Amino acid sequence: MPADIPVSVFKTIDARRDELVELTRQLIDFPTVNPPGEAYRPCAEFIGRRLETRGFRIAYVRAEGTPGDNDRYPRTNVVARREGGVPGPCVHFNSHIDVVETGSGWTVDPFAGVVKSGKLFGRGACDMKGGLAASIVAIEALIDCVADLPGVLEISGTVDEESGGYGGVHYLAERGWFSPPRVDHVIIPEPLNVDRVCIGHRGVWWAEIETLGRIAHGSMPFLGDCAVRHMNAVLDRFERDLYPKLLARNTDMPVVPSGARHSTLNINSIHGGQAEQASGFPAPCVPDSCRMVIDRRLLIEESIDSAKGEVIDLLNRLAGDRAGFAYRIRDLFEVVPIMADRDGPVASATAQAIRRVIGRDPEFVCSPGTYDQKHIDRVGKLKDCIAYGPGILDLAHKPDEYVLIDDMVTSAKVMALAAWSLLHTTA
Ligand SMILES: [Zn+2]
Repeated sequence: MPADIPVSVFKTIDARRDELVELTRQLIDFPTVNPPGEAYRPCAEFIGRRLETRGFRIAYVRAEGTPGDNDRYPRTNVVARREGGVPGPCVHFNSHIDVVETGSGWTVDPFAGVVKSGKLFGRGACDMKGGLAASIVAIEALIDCVADLPGVLEISGTVDEESGGYGGVHYLAERGWFSPPRVDHVIIPEPLNVDRVCIGHRGVWWAEIETLGRIAHGSMPFLGDCAVRHMNAVLDRFERDLYPKLLARNTDMPVVPSGARHSTLNINSIHGGQAEQASGFPAPCVPDSCRMVIDRRLLIEESIDSAKGEVIDLLNRLAGDRAGFAYRIRDLFEVVPIMADRDGPVASATAQAIRRVIGRDPEFVCSPGTYDQKHIDRVGKLKDCIAYGPGILDLAHKPDEYVLIDDMVTSAKVMALAAWSLLHTTA
């Protein structure tokens, strides 16, 4: 193994600062808004064409039949692979190319890639086209400066992360694109700050709880049974019996922000009785149905079954205590909590690279939400995966989202060094 990465790699990345900005602007220029999944194919092809010139073999994989896929909005993913002269491990950089809707409140054109005082603005600048561009420039610099690079480099641009990843990483993982021995280490350049290594994320359970009542005339509510009042009893029990328990539960996961180091439960929505109407009066009725969507986030110490059991027990106890109480519960979505080993190859190579490039100790963190690591871990059965990339997580999905240009350059150096180290490590 050569003693050290050639300094020319870092110098090249510095010299390509403007190119990195330009590449990010070009990526932002594709309005890859999801839903519906706009401009996926041209964006994927843009990435493929660029990497082809560096000797990558390009595959376009359309996730046919996945949610939202049709000829108008094809779920087109790109996977680029470059094999070195000497066999060795495969290091893969995976970025999602989709962005969320712009929303209101922008002071700049969200797809123009405006540059102002060291910041590059645009929808996806932070989450995560800045990270994608940084990984491309990092790997190109490595290829251009190191003649005898061993092993395999892969870069993918995948779709639908913002809507669960089923047409993107999940689809590819199911077909072996993210499994050993094809791939050994994965870095996902999500915006988690340049000095943090994200080793995992909490789990999720979404469910709809419906309380049932009996319809009657609203002037004689005693003749019916109000589903909204039953739901109120559920909320009451949540406040009394569930929230204190969730708050008392602590985790070994280094979740940021620290408020998310407990189990949490959000009430996403609640609705009872007639549909809300824009005009006119409603008819007087006792509601016979009230529906509530809950969003329970799980710690690595918890299982989805135990989280479900806790809520179902509470509802069953209420049914025993409260006259007329009846409910239904329906699962909507679930993700298991994931945490990679912080001493694993990809986490330690990235941490080392942060120490070397930035000169300070990295922070190991976990995300309060989820991202595509779940599919790589659960479906691809590849554990050596982390998220590392430029950008401030809090800016994701906001108006005037931006990424600091300095951070993109710094993270590109970290990515190049981490990849170099992983490629030169024999298992
Ligand atoms: Zn993202």
